[in-house]
Amino acid sequence: MEKTKLEQKLKARRIQPTAMRMLILDFLIRHNEALGLSDLEDHFTRSDRTTLYRTLKTFHDKGMVHEIHDESGITKYALCSDECNCTYPNDMHAHFYCLECDKTLCLTELTVPPVDLPENYQPSSVNYVINGTCSACAS
Ligand SMILES: [Zn+2]
Ligand SMILES: [Zn+2]
Repeated sequence: MEKTKLEQKLKARRIQPTAMRMLILDFLIRHNEALGLSDLEDHFTRSDRTTLYRTLKTFHDKGMVHEIHDESGITKYALCSDECNCTYPNDMHAHFYCLECDKTLCLTELTVPPVDLPENYQPSSVNYVINGTCSACAS
């Protein structure tokens, strides 16, 4: 993606557009599956783990990405769509974890249904992951 577009996307989330942040954002845009810190480490071999982790944390804090916890045991991150705030219960969607290729995909059209929690329970996040075989591995 163009540099100016990346800058705009970051600014829209009130994130200061540094060179590193733009590189990581571009990397996330180019992948349609959720990525973990180790995926970033494998790609950005010259950056240290702390910088990469902090960037993901900033993205997460500002609502640029959402976290997914799946069977792999690795925290993965996926980009939120521009209109999305990724807050529960309004706009959280289900995820699909492929047991064959280890990829985690956003099923953005599948909204997580609200549940009736017992009295005095305050939800802050939800993790709705379906395990199975993705379309690429099934064919
Ligand atoms: Zn797969
Ligand atoms: Zn997602």
